[in-house]
Amino acid sequence: MRLLCSNDDGIHAHGLDVLVRAATEIGEVTVVAPDREQSATSHSLTLHHPLRPVRRGERRFQVDGTPTDCVMLAVEVLMPERPDFVLSGINHGQNMGEDVLYSGTVAAAMEGLALGVPSIAVSFAGGDLRADIAKLDEQVEVLVPLLRHLTSLDAFPAHTLLNVNLPPLRADQVKGVRLTRLGRRVYSNSISPMRDPYGRQIYWIGGGEFSWSGAEDSDFQAIHDGYISVTPLHLDLTHRDMLDTADRWWRAP
Ligand SMILES: [Mg+2]
Repeated sequence: MRLLCSNDDGIHAHGLDVLVRAATEIGEVTVVAPDREQSATSHSLTLHHPLRPVRRGERRFQVDGTPTDCVMLAVEVLMPERPDFVLSGINHGQNMGEDVLYSGTVAAAMEGLALGVPSIAVSFAGGDLRADIAKLDEQVEVLVPLLRHLTSLDAFPAHTLLNVNLPPLRADQVKGVRLTRLGRRVYSNSISPMRDPYGRQIYWIGGGEFSWSGAEDSDFQAIHDGYISVTPLHLDLTHRDMLDTADRWWRAP
């Protein structure tokens, strides 16, 4: 089985190493990853300058582009044969609720899906990675059986990527796996006003406080309860319920 691994934290990120360690147990791994952090770049594509892949080892490339660029180059150009799966991550931090819309980790899996390759995004819901590094390392133990299962399904769901979040626990404390839906997350105080060295007003987006809400079967609830969360996502943003009720609100002009 040919596995393409990418991420949005960059080719030097520890989470990518952990993913590769797990993926190597189940297939032949090719890494194509950004040369620097590209978190929150979502599904952006580089159109206005060329991309330069640099070989960093056997089946290992860094690219001066986004996660989407990496997956597109890997599938279309760099890999001699198409991968059977795209694996993205392990992101340093959770990707649940609305975060999937900002995430470069999830976008790399979306690009795999857009290219017709079954794809799985993996994120580690730890906060301070320095404190949780041992727990991140131990995720290999839970990831190998999970990836082995997901990549051997008779019918991997069509037109779907799987968004996996791992709880910030030691491997032997993880309670199991739940199939979930996206919850809602709310950031507050996440824009910090400050001054640049010349006294001009600037703003820095990031940090702040974070809260969430969600049903019993939400991704946030699963992580809160100590389970691995697996959320099936698709690219079709059409609001189907709204279409079904169109006779109540839509009047053709
Ligand atoms: Mg990231």
